[in-house]
Amino acid sequence: MSTPSLLILPGDGIGPEVMAEVVKIIDWYGAKRDLKFDVSMDLVGGAAYDVHGVPLSDETMARAQEVDAVLLGAVGGPKYDVLDFSVKPERGLLRLRKEMDLFANLRPAQCFDALADFSSLKKDVVAGLDIMIVRELTSGIYFGEPRGIIKEGNERVGINTQRYTESEIARVARSAFELARKRGNKVCSMEKANVMESGILWRDVVTEIHEAEYPDVELSHMYADAGAMQLCRWPKQFDVIVTDNLFGDLLSDAAAMLTGSLGMLPSASLGAPMENGRPKAMYEPVHGSAPDIAGQGKANPIACILSFAMALRYSFNEGDEATRLESAIEKVLADGVRTADLLAGEGVTPVSTSEMGDAIIAALDASL
Ligand code: NAD
Repeated sequence: MSTPSLLILPGDGIGPEVMAEVVKIIDWYGAKRDLKFDVSMDLVGGAAYDVHGVPLSDETMARAQEVDAVLLGAVGGPKYDVLDFSVKPERGLLRLRKEMDLFANLRPAQCFDALADFSSLKKDVVAGLDIMIVRELTSGIYFGEPRGIIKEGNERVGINTQRYTESEIARVARSAFELARKRGNKVCSMEKANVMESGILWRDVVTEIHEAEYPDVELSHMYADAGAMQLCRWPKQFDVIVTDNLFGDLLSDAAAMLTGSLGMLPSASLGAPMENGRPKAMYEPVHGSAPDIAGQGKANPIACILSFAMALRYSFNEGDEATRLESAIEKVLADGVRTADLLAGEGVTPVSTSEMGDAIIAALDASL
């Protein structure tokens, strides 16, 4: 197979700072594991606007469609707040998601033992937590028609429409079942089939796909409100959760916060398989461009590095190397190395963004 290709879009604010640490790790894999990538770099967000007058150029979009995976830092910042909606930095991100048709958003909630005290839940509830929320990303109530604010008699009415086709449900269900097979082999599907027709169809289609194609995976169903309660009560009961765009938006944020800092949370957005069998894919940290700490060397690069670990696992079939990288991060945290966002205030001196990257490289070296 040809050398896998990666398009790196560092973006704005702390994006370039955290991405610099990912580039060190990519170089490490090339030098020490003979795992080489054909890497290209380009602009997105405000950085692209400054040069091209748009937050994503057509050339960059075309390149994103060709590569095996896109790795994005973060976009946005106060400098761009005054721009017209059509050229705001976030539009670059939305264009990538839309044109690559990235319908499955993967948000892991994983609790590193060394950080279990960071959770607002009791340590035994979150220690060792490892769940994956698969959120449908390109349909549902955020896109359904009709929508708008209309006038009815003397008052205004706000309208949004929840709409799902069978094929939209089936493809995200398949993503969840495939993932479960690589993890704990369990899927819990969440909707509101008790009060929504789209929920009834969701439950039917997930059940049909399960029976026909994935009978070896354990499937359960839960109403999304009950699911929210269970996530707070005993999150370790879940492996993969699959849900729609709206519920997934809420449930994935809630689940992510079970585990502590924004600086620790990776994500992946996957689309249909390409000719080489790899899914269209974009990997990015959950956090934004953090203008309050940008340019100060304070950003935690772990969310971005964990996003690259997800790329190793889901785009490049290098699950063992992804585990090596996650274990290196776990070791660094267990050794007490902390960026400022991870300090619990017990007199530990924080390390800089690049020192955290160096510590992870040292742990990777030690893993050989
Ligand atoms: P943010 O995620 O940028 O920051 C929220 C808080 O978390 C800040 O205090 C920040 O310092 C801290 N933080 C975030 N990432 C961190 C890291 N890696 N290490 C240490 N601390 C970290 O969210 P915001 O402040 O609401 O938004 C700032 C800008 O980012 C806005 O322009 C917003 O539109 C944009 N944004 C972009 C994305 C994206 O690119 N995917 C996501 C969210 C927000």
